[in-house]
Amino acid sequence: MRLALLDGDRLGLVANERVIDISDLVSAPPEAGPGAAMLMLLGRLDSLQGQIEQRAKSGEARMSLSEVKLSSPLPRPGKVIAAPMNYAAHRAEQKASGSVAELGVFLKANSSVIGPGQSIVLPFTDRDVDQEGELGIVIGQEAKRVSEEEAFDYVAGYTCVMDITLKGQELRSTRKSFDTFTPIGPWITTKDEVPNPDDLQLRTWVNGELKQDARTSIMIWGVAKIVAFASSVMTLYPGDVIATGTPAGTCTIKDGDTVACEIENLGRFEVGVTAKDAVPAPRYE
Ligand code: MN
Repeated sequence: MRLALLDGDRLGLVANERVIDISDLVSAPPEAGPGAAMLMLLGRLDSLQGQIEQRAKSGEARMSLSEVKLSSPLPRPGKVIAAPMNYAAHRAEQKASGSVAELGVFLKANSSVIGPGQSIVLPFTDRDVDQEGELGIVIGQEAKRVSEEEAFDYVAGYTCVMDITLKGQELRSTRKSFDTFTPIGPWITTKDEVPNPDDLQLRTWVNGELKQDARTSIMIWGVAKIVAFASSVMTLYPGDVIATGTPAGTCTIKDGDTVACEIENLGRFEVGVTAKDAVPAPRYE
């Protein structure tokens, strides 16, 4: 199943370039904020799966994908966890010390998420920002200290994540948490449709030029190990997202660019880049 968020608050089931509105399956209070219905749906996916599959088979009215405005499927996840240096070739191009095995994971602010068609806002006129395309794991069940063997039981599905990064010496959580620095989309593909998340083609483009092209099979830590490790540090909840690291080919993005990310089986989405409100980076002492 492909679960999308439409216009910020309606739940959609995507099938064959068409969308069925399934907002009636869960009722989140409006004050719960953007995407609360998706978090509830993910937490109840096991019990709702039959109903959703029936809706997919029904003859009910469907909208064309081109008629709807997709939002990020997880506009305000509880947590965005990310794995640094999980591809050897990216570590080499960055001349970085330490891989995920030495560094562990870090957090990105959940307020940094945007969706398809929105724009990355470059904060500074005098600092570089890079794009990083990554496989995103979406958690479906509360997970605390789970083993690698049982890790997939706690996964709802997968999505495409861009881990946008200010270059420099600050801690990763600072450099990667600016507003708009975590594009997520175009939807969540449930795990039953992704038999092996550890072997998917991942590609990114800037202005149509292919920049990254790798398979997730070369990740240093695979999906199960990342989930198990993250759950050994913090309890994972439905809708939490884990970005699994980026392969080689990251590059600087500029005002007016278009960045696209596509992962085999998971879809493709694009965002813009603007420096309209950029200012010289302040100096703090
Ligand atoms: Mn990254």
